[in-house]
Amino acid sequence: MKKFLNNKLFRYLSVFLFLNSSILPVKSSSALAAWSINTNGVLELRTKTNTNLKAYFQKANQISGDRFWVDFPGELKNPRTIKGNGPIKEIRLGKPDKGKTRLVIEFEEETYLKPLTWRLVGLDQNNWRIKLFDRKYSFKKISEGQVFKRIKNIKENQKSIHKNKSNYQYLKLPDVKQNKFSVVIDPGHGGPDPGAIGIGGIRETDVVLEVSKIVKNLLSEKGVKVRLTRKNEVDLDLPPRVSFANNTDADIFVSIHANASRGKRRDINGLETFYYRGWRGRLLAKKIQKQILKVSPGSPDRGVKQGRFYVIKNTRMPAVLVEIGFLTGRLDARRLEKTTHRKRLAYSIAKGILEYLNKVG
Ligand SMILES: [Zn+2]
Repeated sequence: MKKFLNNKLFRYLSVFLFLNSSILPVKSSSALAAWSINTNGVLELRTKTNTNLKAYFQKANQISGDRFWVDFPGELKNPRTIKGNGPIKEIRLGKPDKGKTRLVIEFEEETYLKPLTWRLVGLDQNNWRIKLFDRKYSFKKISEGQVFKRIKNIKENQKSIHKNKSNYQYLKLPDVKQNKFSVVIDPGHGGPDPGAIGIGGIRETDVVLEVSKIVKNLLSEKGVKVRLTRKNEVDLDLPPRVSFANNTDADIFVSIHANASRGKRRDINGLETFYYRGWRGRLLAKKIQKQILKVSPGSPDRGVKQGRFYVIKNTRMPAVLVEIGFLTGRLDARRLEKTTHRKRLAYSIAKGILEYLNKVG
């Protein structure tokens, strides 16, 4: 009887405890792809992109023990029950309603749980995690499918980028009129100001300087005159960056930064581009944002936004400030530490700039 839950009864007894706390947009619907409960009490899930999850907890009653469950859109093919171990009595996969999938974790009676502290966190567009119990319980991992298959996907994606590269599509940047345009690239921070410090001590100043230098080279090859506000690790205040740009005949100003989240949350990743005002700044921001997203699969699009940063507010030409990822985010940091990814980002920023110059120039 316990195994074959009466769905209606189940629903009436349900105590709604929390919704997903994802920072991701919730759009499309689909199903659970893989799951795993690890020895440290963490449940990991892989879903299709932008799935909207609902999670619930219910205290034990006459019918069953404490239960946690997650509902996914999309209908499950084979309802099943999997025997648990340690603090987990059993795991059930079922379809509470047509077109739905439900993953239920039922706990053993004496398990001490703190559901009010639980948070279901979206790691990226496909992966989720929630810590259900402490390491003090001995538990043997139970899983179905490969939760972090996505990593493979990224690799495949990178492979395809490399393939394109050999086809010369990857390296094909749009042409612009030679010797017509002038651009100022501003690598954020520098010298005693390292900017954001991320996972493993990765420093914003180093990342953005390397990216900026590659952008300069790529644009120079296209006949664009490029000036960097700094070429090495020097202390450079904001006003001199602005006056440097304002004293040139630059058509545009692009400040390159990398992000850090408050509390250094590893689950926060994403890219965003700021402009201060004007359609030109906004267009430039849009062109760059679109391109950087293309080389950062899985990292959230935090959008094109208006921002009052000193360097974009006080420069006289169309100006943007681009944040190429979170050094504190698991997904972004892993990439930003690699030169291959920095090159890709530089390429994408250059592409956005060239597209803008072609359109507006
Ligand atoms: Zn910065």
